[in-house]
Amino acid sequence: MRKRFFLLWFGIFIGAVLLIATVMTKIYSTHLANVPEISFSSAEKVDIEEQIAEEEWCLILVNKEHCIPNDYEVELVELSNGQCVDRRIYPALQEMFDTARSEGIYPVVASGYRTVEKQQSLMDEKIAAYLVEGYSLREAKEKAEIWVAAVGTSEHQLGISVDINADGVHSAGSEVYKWLDENSYQFGFIKRYPEDKTEITGIINEPWHYRYVGKAAAAEIYRSGVCLEEYLEELGQSNSIESDM
Ligand SMILES: [Zn+2]
Repeated sequence: MRKRFFLLWFGIFIGAVLLIATVMTKIYSTHLANVPEISFSSAEKVDIEEQIAEEEWCLILVNKEHCIPNDYEVELVELSNGQCVDRRIYPALQEMFDTARSEGIYPVVASGYRTVEKQQSLMDEKIAAYLVEGYSLREAKEKAEIWVAAVGTSEHQLGISVDINADGVHSAGSEVYKWLDENSYQFGFIKRYPEDKTEITGIINEPWHYRYVGKAAAAEIYRSGVCLEEYLEELGQSNSIESDM
């Protein structure tokens, strides 16, 4: 009788232990499943990688000394007026234009992405115009290069620069240039060829030519009043993205 009583309690005890173990396992596994998949450190890592990737593409330096890399590729998006830009700058450009229009300023993209052929034809047209004026071929080429960037050295071939003018109906050019000068940095764009930096950029004052560099760089360039060449030199990156062209 006592033995049977003992076996009964022993059975209940084992059953209880198994039940508790099952419940504990369930609770523990549920807890594990609720652990976020992305921990703080990995999220932070993604941010840094994105930031580096961001800087690499939108801080590329292209000028007379730095040609566009031979393997440069661009994914374009077409604007409503037929001009194209790099897909990555489109949201910022649209936001800038929307904001301008909301403030009574009506800009248009007069020139966005240019192919090698387009850039060459612009150069040829300019040289031809100087030849007609009576300049020698050498003089005509020299003069043309003041106005038109040689093939491979135009930011327009990147797709991240745009010439912005007024729509000619609601706004005048001077109004658009002034608004862009004061506001474009908020959207990640800089006036690439300012009047006081022509000796460094090698390009005459172009109040219409805006270049995307990202919001952080644009704000810093705007605040400090440097041009892109100076900014990149300060960053120690002026030679980081070069080509063999
Ligand atoms: Zn331009």
